Amino acid sequence: LIELKNVAKGFKSADGSQRSVLEDVDFRLEKGEIVALLGQSGSGKSTLLRIMAGLIPADVGDVHYRGQPLFGPAAGIAMVFQSFALFPWLTVQQNVELGLEAAGVGAAERAQKAAAAIELIGLAGFEGALPRELSGGMRQRVGMARALVMQPAVLLMDEAFSALDVLTGERLRNEILALWDGGQMPTQAMLVVSHNIEEAVMMADRVLIFASNPGRVRAELPITLPRPRRADSAEVRLLID
Ligand code: ATP
Ligand code: MG
Repeated sequence: LIELKNVAKGFKSADGSQRSVLEDVDFRLEKGEIVALLGQSGSGKSTLLRIMAGLIPADVGDVHYRGQPLFGPAAGIAMVFQSFALFPWLTVQQNVELGLEAAGVGAAERAQKAAAAIELIGLAGFEGALPRELSGGMRQRVGMARALVMQPAVLLMDEAFSALDVLTGERLRNEILALWDGGQMPTQAMLVVSHNIEEAVMMADRVLIFASNPGRVRAELPITLPRPRRADSAEVRLLID
């Protein structure tokens, strides 16, 4: 679905020097798979996801979505942000509808689609709440509803569970996996950034190990365990230990 070839990205430091953040990143996200990206803080994972979402351009290399070069945000690719990135002055419903509004979807259809996404992600009853009235876990659910409402073919999740306490994170993760395993999401591929090996093994069909300074794919670990997986199963424990 998404193919990256030889992608590089750098940023200018405050002193004017150029710092390379990503170099030689090559991989394909295929239809039907969940890929986890595991790497140290600062290795460029969020930068890579932003490039794949079309939010920022690569300096070098090619990014293709469904065989076409990716220029800017594409319908079909949605991202869940590490820091939620909700608009604090908008209600849950308005936050979820924003992308549909930008896509020119009419009010009635927006309301109906947003209601379905809010229901799916377990936020029914909170449509009129503001983000500050919600717990961290509920805010992250809003972030997911906002991504899912776009019916994305590709869902990019940037440490979507790590800002939450362990139990809440695990519950939300299991709910997303149940939707995926049960075919209740229109999504055809997911890329899940994580710091957490257990999370990567639980979710993914393969795990990419990201090197730092500059970031690039260093190794790939295929996960051959059947789905659905349980965190307390012997096979998962074996892979993590
Ligand atoms: P974490 O696990 O902590 O979220 P990460 O792997 O997601 O880290 P990035 O957020 O992609 O890492 O950042 C990689 C590097 O790029 C960092 O050194 C960061 O300072 C730098 N960087 C990211 N965005 C910008 C920007 N807009 N301008 C300048 N530097 C940036
Ligand atoms: Mg990050």
